[in-house]
Amino acid sequence: MVQSTVAVQEKSGVMNIPSWWNCPEGFEELQKLAHLLGEKELLQRSISSDLEGRFPRESLKEIANAGYGAVTIPVEAGGLEQGFTAFSVLAESFSQYCPSSAMCWVMHTTTVHTLYDAGTEEQRKKYIPGVLKGDIAALAFSEPATGGHFWNVVSEAPRNANGYLLNADKSFVTSGGEADFYIVATSFPDSDDKDNLMYLLVEKDQEGIESSSFSAMGLRGNASGPMKFKNVQVPFENRIGGEGGAGYYNDNTVDPLFLLGSAACWVGIAQGALNAAIYSAKKKVHADTGSSVAGYQVIRHELAKSQILIDSARSMLYRTAKALDGCQEKGLELSECLYPLWQLKTHAADMVITVTNAALQVSGGRGYLTGQVEKFLRDGRAGALMGPTNEVLREWIGRTLIDVPWMDEV
Ligand SMILES: Cc1cc2nc3c(=O)[nH]c(=O)nc-3n(C[C@H](O)[C@H](O)[C@H](O)COP(=O)(O)OP(=O)(O)OC[C@H]3O[C@@H](n4cnc5c(N)ncnc54)[C@H](O)[C@@H]3O)c2cc1C
Repeated sequence: MVQSTVAVQEKSGVMNIPSWWNCPEGFEELQKLAHLLGEKELLQRSISSDLEGRFPRESLKEIANAGYGAVTIPVEAGGLEQGFTAFSVLAESFSQYCPSSAMCWVMHTTTVHTLYDAGTEEQRKKYIPGVLKGDIAALAFSEPATGGHFWNVVSEAPRNANGYLLNADKSFVTSGGEADFYIVATSFPDSDDKDNLMYLLVEKDQEGIESSSFSAMGLRGNASGPMKFKNVQVPFENRIGGEGGAGYYNDNTVDPLFLLGSAACWVGIAQGALNAAIYSAKKKVHADTGSSVAGYQVIRHELAKSQILIDSARSMLYRTAKALDGCQEKGLELSECLYPLWQLKTHAADMVITVTNAALQVSGGRGYLTGQVEKFLRDGRAGALMGPTNEVLREWIGRTLIDVPWMDEV
């Protein structure tokens, strides 16, 4: 069994790692509950979900049953109102057991928060009770035509007598074909707003929806395949926000939650891989030298370097989550934290590649065999590719550093 980050060894002479280093203060109980859920419910289905490319529906249902169907939205709207630190603690913990479940849940939570922020009272009342019982929500933003520039879409949904006629090709949709509803980013051609981005809520059974299977290197349970929306008639009451102007919610809701939640997943995946490598390095003993793998100094240095890298990203994660919580409390825009979020996501997604690779090396040929360590490496590799990709984010960070507008000409 993989060692958990919450368990701190208490052997005499062994340095105790302070609990605040692994978990923001005040969230210890939540972290403990999330690890229990991970051990009991998520871990058991994680390997088969990966091998069979099966959507982790039962695991997501258990997450909802535990009360985490709408963690970030206010209590009066049916949410837990636990804030962004709690969201990060849960995502980091879940991903140590089943990264696919954790990422589907992050996308779900981001969608639910978008519905809350941009939606009307009626829309909240209609859809939030369902997500508390296990309905799954998803974001259909990226299009093949514009790749990772998901804020620029070529699809359109012109108005007709009954609402909007949506025609959109989407390249990757996590929980695609499995979700109960989607927030689809498209454009409204006749918008009065300079930003003609528009969100439409599409329910799973509407006519004209096609989803394709997802065959990928990692996160294989995610059902992140392409979707097509062909002449889907969306009623007026399912427009989330205005006819245009949704770029505001991209910057203030979708990006902050996605960048934070996904970074938490990369931290959790890295920690899960390192825990598995530590376990294996302690267990494997060479008969000729009499030493365990962990007995070699070079191996211990690899473990130390990896843990330091994980904690550098974890520190950024919880510092940024706290800042977002602060913005929310003070009624400030979450976009105030975009710059730290870009750095956080870039670092966490780079870090997980380095750490999972080191974990595999420490685990030897056994780590290369089908199993937990190689799976963490494959799952974590998605981070740098998910939009905004690390190349795009480094460009925005670099432009900011030299006082050049970040969005021009991208
Ligand atoms: C597992 C997974 C799940 C996903 N889930 C969702 C989802 O739920 N919803 C959703 O909407 N999308 C989702 N995506 C899509 C994701 O957010 C990106 O849009 C997608 O990964 C980009 O891939 P692409 O092949 O279109 O890349 P491209 O954009 O074609 O990029 C190819 C390469 O060019 C680089 N590049 C692109 N633009 C620039 C630039 N301006 N400057 C410098 N370099 C650049 C990229 O970094 C990359 O290295 C998911 C993707 C993955 C892998």
